Amino acid sequence: MRFDVVTLFPDMVHTCFREGVVGRAVEKGILSLACTNPRDFTHDVHRTVDDTLYGGGSGMLLKAEPLCAALESIPQHPRRCVVYLSPQGERLNQALVRELAMNDQLVLICGRYEGIDQRVIDLCVDREISLGDYVISGGELAAAVVIDAVSRLVPGVVGQVESVAEDSFFAGLLDAPHYTRPRTFRGHDVPAVLLGGNHLAIESWREEQMLKRTFERRPDLLEHATLTPEQEQVLKRLQGQT
Ligand code: SAM
Repeated sequence: MRFDVVTLFPDMVHTCFREGVVGRAVEKGILSLACTNPRDFTHDVHRTVDDTLYGGGSGMLLKAEPLCAALESIPQHPRRCVVYLSPQGERLNQALVRELAMNDQLVLICGRYEGIDQRVIDLCVDREISLGDYVISGGELAAAVVIDAVSRLVPGVVGQVESVAEDSFFAGLLDAPHYTRPRTFRGHDVPAVLLGGNHLAIESWREEQMLKRTFERRPDLLEHATLTPEQEQVLKRLQGQT
């Protein structure tokens, strides 16, 4: 998978991936990450990338010419998706992450100031994606979130494939609680079932905890989750307790 980030602040993006699983995958060549700076595609002495708004209003906007020239300089892979990170886009979730991971190349455009000229969106962007209903100062952190989430689904990036499959949202539920040594911490014990070595009992405890957490914290997820008959039974019991 190749990630190309169009940004005025390449260091912000590279800094996010100096350490951790994504950084290691880049080192191993499983992923590639490149930044393209629209400022390198300006032709005036001030290397101007922004301008005031037509029609008036406060703030500056990223200009179309340097952004499009930056985009056009990026090599194109056959299955590529050009994304503009925007608070006005579709909200990022695991289903969307899975869709994005089906591409060979993601080109991520980071806005700044008031955002980018609408014509770049109209002419060059396949999808607009938002982190959530709030505004941050630039698209770089949002791009880093997309890169990290998508990378986890690329084979070889996360060492143990099962750990990705057991994560929250992968199968439509939240993850179970986890514990490590010591057995007792400040008077709180690890649940006895996890210490007994009975793998079937541990598996069914975890499944029940996943359902319980999802039921208590994110009941909306249960509307779309595919549950086994056993899970349906557990869910009915939990519903009966309320
Ligand atoms: N005026 C824009 C609006 O209200 O839609 C917000 C501009 S924001 C200050 C600057 C840039 O940060 C945006 O162009 C976008 O790239 C990024 N950004 C801000 N909030 C975001 C969010 N929730 N999700 C993804 N990107 C976001």
